[in-house]
Amino acid sequence: MARHFEDSRLVIASHNAGKVREIADLLKPFAVSVQSAGALGLPEPEETGATFAENAILKARASAAAPPDGSGQAALADDSGFSVAALGGAPGIHAARFAERADGVRDFDWAMEQLHEASAEAGEDLAWFTCALALAWPDGHVEVFEGRVDGSLAWPPRGDRGFGYDPIFVPRGGTLTFAEMDPDAKHAISHRAIAFRALIDACFKPG
Ligand code: IMP
Repeated sequence: MARHFEDSRLVIASHNAGKVREIADLLKPFAVSVQSAGALGLPEPEETGATFAENAILKARASAAAPPDGSGQAALADDSGFSVAALGGAPGIHAARFAERADGVRDFDWAMEQLHEASAEAGEDLAWFTCALALAWPDGHVEVFEGRVDGSLAWPPRGDRGFGYDPIFVPRGGTLTFAEMDPDAKHAISHRAIAFRALIDACFKPG
C-alpha cells in the first residue's frame, strides 16, 4: 500500500517553469498549497540516475530533505523526456541536455530540427513523452508513478502554448500538436497527467 499524503503543503521540486505550472494546475482540485523549489531557493541536484524514476527520486528527496525552515515538507518531482523511435528512444532522459548547444544555451528550435531530420531520414515518425513523478517525504520515504503518451512528429513546429518539444508532438489519434492544444486538453492525456492520476489514486484519495 502506498503511503498517503496528509499534509496541506507540498513543494514542487522543479526549477522548470513549464513543469511547475502544469503540476500546480493538476493539483488545483486538491486542498494543497504548493511552492516551487526554485522559489524556495532549494538545491537542484545533478540528475545522475539511469532512468526517469531514479532522477525523479533524486530531485524529490533533495527538496524534501532540505526544507527552508528545517521543519521538513514533502516534495513532488517530475523527471520527464522526449523519445524518438528513429533514434532508438533518444534523447529520452537527456531531453533537456539534448537541447543545449555547444555554448551551453538551450535552443529547442535547433533541437527539434535535429529530431525531425533524423526521423525524416529514417522514414519513421513515432515519438513519445515519458514522465516519472516521485513524491518524497522528509524521512526519505518515496512513492513513484510513471506515464507515457505516444504520437508522431510534426514538421514544421506548430503552436506556442506549451514548452520544450510540445510544438512537434501530435498525440496518437489527434491532429493538433501539444503546443496548439488548450492546456486542459493536454492535461487530459499527457504523460504527466497519466502519472499524476496514478499518484492521486494511490496517495491522495481516501483509501
Ligand atoms: P528534465 O525532466 O528536467 O530532465 O527535463 C525534461 C525535458 O523533457 C524538458 O526540459 C523538456 O525539454 C522535455 N519535456 C518533458 N515533458 C515535456 C512536455 O510535457 N512537453 C514538452 N517537453 C517536455
